[in-house]
Amino acid sequence: MASAKGFTLWFTGLSGAGKSTLAEEISRRLNEQGVGHEILDGDVVRTNLSKGLGFSREDRDTNIRRIGFVAELLTRNDIPVITAAISPYRAVREEVRRKIGGERFVEVFVTASLDELVRRDVKGLYAKALHGEIKNFTGVSDPYEAPTKADVTVNSETETVEESADRIWNHLIDREFIRVEQAVLQG
Ligand code: ADP
Repeated sequence: MASAKGFTLWFTGLSGAGKSTLAEEISRRLNEQGVGHEILDGDVVRTNLSKGLGFSREDRDTNIRRIGFVAELLTRNDIPVITAAISPYRAVREEVRRKIGGERFVEVFVTASLDELVRRDVKGLYAKALHGEIKNFTGVSDPYEAPTKADVTVNSETETVEESADRIWNHLIDREFIRVEQAVLQG
């Protein structure tokens, strides 16, 4: 199977919602199908491409514009890109969608209740944020603007990773970004 055309699979959601987990699962499925691609993970981008940027709105928007810029370069050369950054502000997400082109942009909103995220506390950050030890923490002391027209919305509180990934995968197939060739039955 080959990728039919380039696309950007853009995950957005609060810390611990499941962006990286689903990015990795979709990446695993693409590898399984022999489809080359790149992942731009928020944490990795912040230690490389965006080192030194903080968490003010301006710095967050700069971070997202950089991710969007790289995603655009790859997407237009038919290399699928998966991004996994909180990307809390709607305006800059829409700016990236426009630059890449809506027909190649897939926005996936990964949601779960704040209670569930605090219970998970994957990186131990919510406890600190709730105690005021981290300022500008998205969802606790900094805004998160949920998408109003996400292409796919998955709820990691009520769905398994497999179920969420299946819904995203089916969307990619429906839009013909990937083509799953059926095994030809002999005889
Ligand atoms: P983020 O990248 O959004 O900060 P992570 O992917 O690091 O979040 O963490 C999400 C956690 O939620 C993981 O421990 C994962 O196993 C769990 N989880 C449970 N259900 C789901 C689901 N449907 N999709 C994604 N993650 C899920």
